[in-house]
Amino acid sequence: MKIQFIGTGAADWDWSLPLAPGVRGSTASLLDGHILIDAGPTVVHEMEQQGISPSDITDVLITHSHSDHFNTENIQAIASAPRAEALRMFASSQALECLEGNIEKVPLVFGKEYLIGKLKITPLPANHALRDIAENTYHFLIVTPENKRLFYALDGGWLTSAACRLLHGEHLDMIVWDATSGNCFNDWRFADHNELLMIHNMRSAMASLELVNEKTIHVFNHIARTLWPKSPEERARLADEFEGILAEDGMQITL
Ligand SMILES: [Zn+2]
Ligand SMILES: [Zn+2]
Repeated sequence: MKIQFIGTGAADWDWSLPLAPGVRGSTASLLDGHILIDAGPTVVHEMEQQGISPSDITDVLITHSHSDHFNTENIQAIASAPRAEALRMFASSQALECLEGNIEKVPLVFGKEYLIGKLKITPLPANHALRDIAENTYHFLIVTPENKRLFYALDGGWLTSAACRLLHGEHLDMIVWDATSGNCFNDWRFADHNELLMIHNMRSAMASLELVNEKTIHVFNHIARTLWPKSPEERARLADEFEGILAEDGMQITL
């Protein structure tokens, strides 16, 4: 599976378009060139910069409907691009209600496995609240035909016990973490997002459950401008110290 990190920023970057150099776009990722996870305010712009046509996108999964992940205008633009079949959208039923046009709507159900392209994708509950606390927020367990397992865990602070159960105690090859808060725990975002020490503690607990081992790849994503060091070099050093890969816009990993 090819994972392309389209945008890697939390909501505190300046998203005036075109993006200024060094500015991270809204967090979105592309699987195997056609399955998009999240579609925030900069996604279409960044796809264009990275040579991805809206017509390439067959399916969109929405982790949650905060405005940095769910932008109806951009979704409409992707849906209305020339395409053989309607764009398939996987999201909460509340988010799906906001969409019109050439879209097939699939409301997500926790623990249900969806076959999307070649991938088996299961939504898991995230610890991340929306204004309407009745609306669900999702992480995803993504399994390739070769049985490589990716846990896409953003946005959300800590892990929910239900998500932990739905990982079924099986080894994870890669985790994409919500690492919004960098090295700043004392922040109002503390319950909704992770800082690196929280991730470190979760990793060590997950290692004792054999969910991860030294081969598991850890990617730090959804980077807040104000909660990570200012310079790219210092940010990279911090990610290194916590034994993970700092996501960058346009970065690709093959799993
Ligand atoms: Zn976010
Ligand atoms: Zn959010």
